[in-house]
Amino acid sequence: QVAGTLAKEGPNSPSYDWFQTDFLVTIVIYTKQKEMGLDSVIVDHQDDSFRAETLIKDYSYFIHIGLSHEVEEDFSVRVVENVGKIEIVLKKKENISWKCLGHPLEKHNLLILKKDTGLYYRKCQLVSKEDVTHDTKLFCLMLPPSTHLQVPVGHHVYLKVTITGTEIVKPYTPVSYSLFSEFKEPDLPNNKYIYFLIKIYPAGLLTPELDHLQIGDFVSVSGPEGNFKKSRLQELEDLFLVAAGTGFTPMVKILNYALSNIPSLRKLKLMFFNKTEDDIIWRNQLEKLAFKDKRFDVEYVLSAPTSEWNGKQGHISPALLSGFLKRSFEKSRVLLCICGPTPFIEQGIIVSNQFCHYKMPPLFAKVEGKGNGIKAVIVNMVDLQRLLHDLYFSKDEIHSFTA
Ligand code: FAD
Ligand code: NAD
Repeated sequence: QVAGTLAKEGPNSPSYDWFQTDFLVTIVIYTKQKEMGLDSVIVDHQDDSFRAETLIKDYSYFIHIGLSHEVEEDFSVRVVENVGKIEIVLKKKENISWKCLGHPLEKHNLLILKKDTGLYYRKCQLVSKEDVTHDTKLFCLMLPPSTHLQVPVGHHVYLKVTITGTEIVKPYTPVSYSLFSEFKEPDLPNNKYIYFLIKIYPAGLLTPELDHLQIGDFVSVSGPEGNFKKSRLQELEDLFLVAAGTGFTPMVKILNYALSNIPSLRKLKLMFFNKTEDDIIWRNQLEKLAFKDKRFDVEYVLSAPTSEWNGKQGHISPALLSGFLKRSFEKSRVLLCICGPTPFIEQGIIVSNQFCHYKMPPLFAKVEGKGNGIKAVIVNMVDLQRLLHDLYFSKDEIHSFTA
């Protein structure tokens, strides 16, 4: 009955409309984009305020309305992917005809660059907290019933906690419940839980507070952020994941997604850097997965192993990477994802005898020491990218995860 006016700027001006039956009100968003999924729209409905943020490329399109009549807490969301149509179906509390949808609130019917939208938080309840390693826990948060939010593969959210009157906000990357969780598109529409693998730093600012949360306590969770595009996984043949410590977290959904949804995938390899064996997150699951799915291999590299460790050791280095990054065939379609601490990239070291097997490209690394003690040091991200380029990876074939 009442059509929204078109936002003029941005990609393909999205628009909206609404209609009603005796029991339902349906809000329809026409994105005019093909790559829309249930993770493309975030809906929050609180009291009479209805907010839907649709993620379209680098933009957000907002429907933000003070509804004219009351609706039930729960609602459903449907996406017609091939035409990019999103339908949000609300249930009327009273069986009466609405004359209008409501009054516009902030940003309503605007298409805004995502980087200018600010973060929007909703309060989520801690449902469970399980030990994973000696210092890492799996947190399960439940979204409010009046929220629809699915974090896209490779994206993170911000968690916000108030500590002695000050708001502390840090990014965390949601994971699946396990490496064996079903990952079929589209996700279950009633998916209400978000899982996080979080390492607790005893002297850290936020993580000890997260560790002290009791079941039933609330944490504010933002909408998703990040620039990884799931479409980069389409038609891949080789996928290489290089992770250090909790830098494993973005790899979890990528692993799940790639193994279940990319039929062209021949090989998926994870090189997982940790200090000790005790630090390896989900080692059992990784090994079970490697046993179950022959396309998947995992290699651990420890920087502070015990004397019993007879696997790979050291820091990220040209020698380790050049051995690992072997394409299935010369021109295979390939992607390399990297995540970990900044020094992980900055201080990769190789010892001389490993180094001998590798022809060091002159630009990226500096050489330290003499004779048998010679070491090559990857200096920074740009240098690492150059190394990878020299291993025949173009910029488009590399994704590094950052905030
Ligand atoms: P901080 O206060 O930041 O301290 C961390 C460590 O540094 C502690 O050991 C502390 O003692 C030490 N430290 C702090 N300040 C100093 C100093 N001045 N000098 C020396 N040492 C110092 N982490 C996860 O566990 N899981 C995730 O899924 C995850 N996802 C992320 C996604 C993104 C995009 C990014 C950028 C980071 C992610 N992180 C993740 C890291 C997370 O955001 C926090 O940085 C981390 O949890 C530490 O927070 P903290 O406040 O507890 O520790
Ligand atoms: P950690 O201290 O346990 O180290 C794990 C491994 O990283 C080490 O074994 C080593 O191989 C490498 N490493 C660490 N420090 C190094 C150094 N100085 N030089 C060379 N290599 C080094 O790691 P952690 O405490 O689990 O930290 C994980 C990091 O990943 C955090 O900085 C976190 O912010 C980051 N992270 C980023 C994202 C993202 O950007 N999307 C997601 C998750 C985690």
